[in-house]
Amino acid sequence: MGRIHLGDADALRELTAAASSVVFFTGAGISTESGIPDFRSPGTGLWNRVKPIEFQDFVASEEVRRLSWQRRFDGDRVLERAKPNAGHRAIARLVDAGKVTAVITQNVDNLHQDSGIPETHVIELHGNAHHARCLSCHKRYELEALEVVFRRDSRIPPCDQCGGIIKTATISFGQSMPEREMRRAHAAVQACDLCIVAGSSLVVYPAATLPELAKQRGARLAIVNREATPLDEIADLVVRAELGATLSQLVERD
Ligand code: ZN
Repeated sequence: MGRIHLGDADALRELTAAASSVVFFTGAGISTESGIPDFRSPGTGLWNRVKPIEFQDFVASEEVRRLSWQRRFDGDRVLERAKPNAGHRAIARLVDAGKVTAVITQNVDNLHQDSGIPETHVIELHGNAHHARCLSCHKRYELEALEVVFRRDSRIPPCDQCGGIIKTATISFGQSMPEREMRRAHAAVQACDLCIVAGSSLVVYPAATLPELAKQRGARLAIVNREATPLDEIADLVVRAELGATLSQLVERD
């Protein structure tokens, strides 16, 4: 067993100050302070109340697609109401200052973009729940317009450009990881000299291998999460504290 380097916000600030190119890797924990429940928390999750729809079933069946869209439009819409919190805003300021080169996220809530980070700096490993795309030609569709059609026709028609199936732009169970985003994420962690994990328990593979890759390539690794993670032992710093308060201290005194 290796020694775990437990520390606090001050230690994280020192590590960040010494770095020139920082990549953030964020998970559900950064958005709980925006009121979005972590789907891994028993009983509280948005997604474990109902059985998730598998990608293959969505593609194979018009009826399953109807059910999927019905859930999307009749759900409690917590994702749409959520606003960025202090943690998101702190990262946005570090991006703005040129300190952070990329934010890799497992979240689909769009809160990094909502906090002002340009799309070019956000890498979404699990897609985005705020819009839809054609599975064949990737044309983007806005959910507001699709909802109007669904309420009228009880179905979402095929893509008007290629006839493909339109689906929310999230990565579903059974759907492969987005290749382009994985490539961008690999490039980002290989180029950084500090990788900060914020609010991820690092149990979802292959995404969780990215911070490990950063460390293997010589970058420092810091993990800010309320619970232990499988990478704590190889991290240069582990902070077990609230995200918003901890990350805010990275930008307060500059
Ligand atoms: Zn299409």
